[in-house]
Amino acid sequence: MVGWRQRFQQVGASVVARPARPSTLKGVVSSASETSDAVVSYRLARDRQIKAFHEGTKTEAEVCDAQPELRRVAHHHGVALTDECPICELPELVLVTFAFGAGLPNGGRVISKLRDVRRLRARGKPSDCYRIEVCQSCWWNHLRESFSVDGGQPATSTG
Ligand SMILES: [Zn+2]
Repeated sequence: MVGWRQRFQQVGASVVARPARPSTLKGVVSSASETSDAVVSYRLARDRQIKAFHEGTKTEAEVCDAQPELRRVAHHHGVALTDECPICELPELVLVTFAFGAGLPNGGRVISKLRDVRRLRARGKPSDCYRIEVCQSCWWNHLRESFSVDGGQPATSTG
């Protein structure tokens, strides 16, 4: 169930970090400063995927491949975005955030509120969080950002 996570991590490896754009996130786990100051944006990789689709080098089936578990989570826990889907252009885009770390489920824990982040932090163990946009119409999905929740430890700079 974590195949998408590995895939996104690979995608992220070639991406330049840049600051998050919290204004698009509608108030839910929205502020990088609320969670961590080390937010990695995957916008460049995302834009490449979208471009490949529009240029015809990738099919809709290739870019709109949300797995059943991700679809389920998007449906029940997704936070609506104001952006339109970059593939089908319908306003069906939602954001889901998964946290991974020691003591959390293998497939990640879904977090949707700032309260959930505070709970992660209160565990006293670091967590890695991945924020994924999912279209509930065509099932486009892509990693949008990742960040760490330090679990109460002093912040470390990892570049
Ligand atoms: Zn769509």
